[in-house]
Amino acid sequence: MGAMECNYIVWIPHYGLGNRIVSLVSSFLYALLNDRVLLVHVPDELTDLFCEPFPGTSWVLPSDFPVHNFQNFDKDTPQSYGNMLRDKVISNDMRFSANATFPAYAYLHLPWYYNEWDKLFFCQDAQQMLRKFPWLLLKSDHYFVPSLFLVEEYDDELRRLFPERTTVFHHLVRYLLHPSNTVWGHVTRYYHAYLAKADKRVGIQIRNLKNEPVPFETLLGQIVTCSSKEGILPSIDPRHPARPAEDDAKVKAVFTTSLDSGYSDRIRDMYYEHATTTGEIVGVYQASHEVEQRTEQQNHNIKALSEITLLSFSDVLITTACSTFGYVAQGLGGLEPLILTKPWKSKLPCRWAKSPEPCFLIPPPADVCRDHGGINKKMTQHVRQCEDENGGIKLFD
Ligand code: GDP
Repeated sequence: MGAMECNYIVWIPHYGLGNRIVSLVSSFLYALLNDRVLLVHVPDELTDLFCEPFPGTSWVLPSDFPVHNFQNFDKDTPQSYGNMLRDKVISNDMRFSANATFPAYAYLHLPWYYNEWDKLFFCQDAQQMLRKFPWLLLKSDHYFVPSLFLVEEYDDELRRLFPERTTVFHHLVRYLLHPSNTVWGHVTRYYHAYLAKADKRVGIQIRNLKNEPVPFETLLGQIVTCSSKEGILPSIDPRHPARPAEDDAKVKAVFTTSLDSGYSDRIRDMYYEHATTTGEIVGVYQASHEVEQRTEQQNHNIKALSEITLLSFSDVLITTACSTFGYVAQGLGGLEPLILTKPWKSKLPCRWAKSPEPCFLIPPPADVCRDHGGINKKMTQHVRQCEDENGGIKLFD
């Protein structure tokens, strides 16, 4: 490439808003490490969610960009790095070649259902070879930053950028993502109406997936038991059910988020019908209950981002295991949440996260780079199993 030419990475949105934010942030770090310009494909449903982060320029991929069919890019796309490697269109040895010809771009296929070829992306040999492509198009639904820390040649720069590994996502997400005025309007109106005047704010992010549901009463039980056992919310007082509130009683505002209104209704009723053992007053609020995930609708996404932001203002945060919606809230707030565990994965109903870092839920296998440049061994003690997912990896100090 000539000295004046830029290299680019084009981010392609995939799945829900939390997935999109963690993968966008990961792509941004990848761009920083490789001196690439980050451009984002903004479909209609993502308009007016975020401000432009870089002064005097736009990160939006221009509408006359010659490639359009982004939503069709997937595991079978012939231009994917993995497929081109498998089909011998490219090889990682081309990193040494001064005059090899490369396709116009490579598509990096990194969603959870990526295959063993795609996973080689995380190896040093691939990283060096991919630098020969001025255009990379990337689709992921995960926070893949922990695996970038395992690439040896990024070590120096990552140490300089992030002396503390447990605040990587916090810094990146706050640097990159700023809510639009529309989102900020939702956030500030709601905050001042319901949360600002409380003595303490507790956020509870409740995500019950349709494809692997936790029974309603089980999840509600986890929330009530864990929040009282960990001293986050007071227990109800069976001995003095009729005790009136004191004028100077402390007020806790609980902000819940869920697609369903049932959890919030039950917790609110509990504190409406009973006095608490501490004499505190507990108000329970939920901004929306959208019933279904509707990522293709802009207004739905505006509510989702507003609620993620409101959760980030909590003094104490409770999240649901393995949810990127919760990861973004904890990252924006710099909070170490109490995680509600999946009953089939853990004997304990909840456990504290050690940092605000998200988990890379579906990383490549630990030995993926054995024959492809190895990994940065100094980092292995800092990239370890997540609190909420045994197979996932996350950054630790
Ligand atoms: P994940 O699936 O839990 O990792 O989180 P994502 O954010 O990627 O996808 C879930 C999507 O469902 C969100 O982006 C929202 O569109 C919707 N959703 C899930 N929970 C809530 C919620 O509590 N409030 C709102 N407004 N939307 C939600």
